[in-house]
Amino acid sequence: MARKFFVGGNWKCNGTTEEVKKIVAVLNEGQVPPPDAVEVVVSPPFVFLPLVKSSLKPHFHVAAQNCWVKKGGAFTGEISAEMIVSLDIPWVILGHSERRLLLNESNEFVGDKVAYALGQGLKVIACVGETLEQREAGKTLDVVAAQTRAIAERVSSWENIVLAYEPVWAIGTGKVATPAQAQEVHHELRKWLHDNVSAEVAASTRIIYGGSVSGGNCKELATQPDVDGFLVGGASLKPEFIDIIKSSE
Ligand code: PEP
Repeated sequence: MARKFFVGGNWKCNGTTEEVKKIVAVLNEGQVPPPDAVEVVVSPPFVFLPLVKSSLKPHFHVAAQNCWVKKGGAFTGEISAEMIVSLDIPWVILGHSERRLLLNESNEFVGDKVAYALGQGLKVIACVGETLEQREAGKTLDVVAAQTRAIAERVSSWENIVLAYEPVWAIGTGKVATPAQAQEVHHELRKWLHDNVSAEVAASTRIIYGGSVSGGNCKELATQPDVDGFLVGGASLKPEFIDIIKSSE
C-alpha cells in the first residue's frame, strides 16, 4: 500500500509575529512537490495558529503542538482538542519528547490524549523515541514498543495517526540517526504494528523520522524503505525546510 510522504515542521516555542510571517513567506514562495506527492504540515505555537492557517497556501496544513487530555474546562493554561477543531486546524502533535521528559507526560497520558484528540476528529502526529541512556542500555525497541502500545491499547483506528520516531539523543543536538539506525527502528515499529495491531495498519501507517533532520541529510534518510517522511524541528524554521519537503523526489 502506497504511503504518501509526510513532512512535518515543529516550530516549538519559537517566533514572533514578524518572524512567523517571514517563515510563511518562505513556504509560500517555495517550489514544492504537489500535495498528492507530499503532505506538509507545519506546527506553530498556539497563538500563531490562526495567522499561519489564514496566510499559508492551502497546499500546507497546520498542526497544534499539544492539546489537553479531555474536554476543556477548569484547566488553566491548557488548550482543548475542541478549540483546535473549532479553528479548523486538522492536526495535533502529541507525545513529543520535550513534553514527555520536561512535563512528565507518561505513556498512558499520551495514549489518553491521542485517543481523545482522534475522537474529536483531529489527526495526530504521535511521537515515540528513546533517550541516549535507554539506547546504550539496549532498550530502544522495548521503549518505543511500550510507547506505541499505550496508544494502540486506547485507539480503535490508526487511519488518522502518523507515528514519529524521534530518538531523544538526536533532537536538537545535531546528532542525526544514521539511515541504518532510523531504518532499523522504523522496521521494528512496523513489525510491532503488524504483530500487535494488524497487517493492514502496519502497511498503511506512515512512520516518520525526527531528530536533527536537515537539508543536508534528508535525502539519504528518505531512501530508507520504512522512512515515510520527517518531523523537523530547528530546520523547519529555515529555508532549508523546502529542501526537506523535496527530499523524496
Ligand atoms: C523535534 O523537535 O521534533 C525535532 C525533531 O527537532 P530537531 O529537528 O531540531 O532535532
